[in-house]
Amino acid sequence: MQKNVKNIQRLCKENRSGVGKWQLWGAREKMKEYYDVIIVGTGAAGLYCALNLPERKNILMITKKEADQSDSFLAQGGICMLRGEDDYEDYFEDTMRAGHYENNKKAVDLMLRSSNSIIRDLLMREVDFERNEKGDLEFTREGAHSQPRILFHKDITGKEITSKLLAQAQTRENIEIVEYMTMVDLISADNICGGVVAMDEQDEIYEIRAPYVVLACGGLGGLYKNSTNFPHITGDALGIAMKHGVMLENIDYIQIHPTTLYSQKPGRRFLISESVRGEGAYLYDKNGQRFTNELQPRDLLSQAIFSQMEKQDTEFVWEDMRPLGETAIMKHFPNIFSRCLEEGFDVRKEPIPVVPAQHYFMGGIKVNLGSRTSMQGLYACGETSCNGVHGKNRLASNSLLESLVFARRAADDILFGKKPEPCRAGAVDRKAYEDRENLMAGYRTVILNEIERMKKSHE
Ligand SMILES: Cc1cc2nc3c(=O)[nH]c(=O)nc-3n(C[C@H](O)[C@H](O)[C@H](O)COP(=O)(O)OP(=O)(O)OC[C@H]3O[C@@H](n4cnc5c(N)ncnc54)[C@H](O)[C@@H]3O)c2cc1C
Repeated sequence: MQKNVKNIQRLCKENRSGVGKWQLWGAREKMKEYYDVIIVGTGAAGLYCALNLPERKNILMITKKEADQSDSFLAQGGICMLRGEDDYEDYFEDTMRAGHYENNKKAVDLMLRSSNSIIRDLLMREVDFERNEKGDLEFTREGAHSQPRILFHKDITGKEITSKLLAQAQTRENIEIVEYMTMVDLISADNICGGVVAMDEQDEIYEIRAPYVVLACGGLGGLYKNSTNFPHITGDALGIAMKHGVMLENIDYIQIHPTTLYSQKPGRRFLISESVRGEGAYLYDKNGQRFTNELQPRDLLSQAIFSQMEKQDTEFVWEDMRPLGETAIMKHFPNIFSRCLEEGFDVRKEPIPVVPAQHYFMGGIKVNLGSRTSMQGLYACGETSCNGVHGKNRLASNSLLESLVFARRAADDILFGKKPEPCRAGAVDRKAYEDRENLMAGYRTVILNEIERMKKSHE
């Protein structure tokens, strides 16, 4: 596909400290003051929302780092789909059981019922999923799934899906993508949203207006020392939403992934996908003994691993991929194989040390089934939102699907729903943004305090 680099504001590859490998140019010259829709975040949710809006809508997408630096690119295991009516009850029950039956049943039903059209649409967008020798789609299974119902592309499914969506967004004349542009506030008055305040890498402040703003800012792993998420994904939208009185839900529902590669180095933890266990890998304690059911839901398995580590005073347990056999490892998990090799482990020949780490955020900005927040004109979709699909704990490979289903719902609601009243907010007080570090640190503190407060209220 021909890339329209005009829209994505990358000019040269020079290394510039603090700006990464691509240089941003002229955001001020390029960015307008008014758009029809502003989307914050270029992960699967933000991109899919943009692509589901008509070409007559002028859309601005902003992102904190480079457009491909989102957790959506990191998804390994795959994306779930309903495999016909025969699987409806099992898939529904698996999702509810993993979520401790705290899920919003209507949202679960909507996600399952929408999954076929989402997958058909992805295939039409040339997303390549694994197929068998007859050319039929191949399905894998992960923990807490009673059936194989997960589509995958090697062990880089998120990259396959999101890079195709990004490439398509780049070709659309009506979508402008601006990298290294961080939302630092919303513009609002009388609970009506009117746009965002954003800052570039030079701390230049931009006041951008639109009748519709979509928050697709991902999770909050960057607030944690050990997380599989990109460190820049720090839940900013939650702090900003709280500042404006936008309702949140269950923000203490944070998923710990049971198996990430143990490392003493700082930074993002490398995930050992659940489908590795789904395909037959075992967990061992320090004596090489199995100690738990490897396929139980993530929260229960993480607890089992933590308590085993405590009992034996270890910093990790072992995961053994050898039962999968070399052919399956190399075909299905080439990315995991090579990353472990870089760390000195050959998964074909030896177990690897694994430890639980923060991974996913089930709570978020409270939205209805059309991804509307409690503020007029403000939408949220993807990991930053909470529509109740996941309940207290997410079932593996349900989040890419959820992101896409409810991103499209946001686009539908913007198009067909009741229009927001005009926002009467005046000019923003620029002084409030001069100390950016302090501002962002303030959001972080507010979020962490609210997580603690909600935890206590759930006790
Ligand atoms: C290692 C890993 C493996 C995973 N594997 C799977 C899997 O196999 N299957 C599955 O279904 N799910 C998986 N997930 C979860 C899934 O990838 C995410 O939940 C989903 O992709 C979230 O998409 P999103 O668009 O909501 O957010 P993201 O893809 O995280 O995108 C967030 C975007 O918001 C931007 N942003 C954030 N704050 C700001 C701000 N203040 N201003 C401007 N931009 C901002 C970021 O720069 C980024 O562009 C995995 C997650 C990880 C981390």
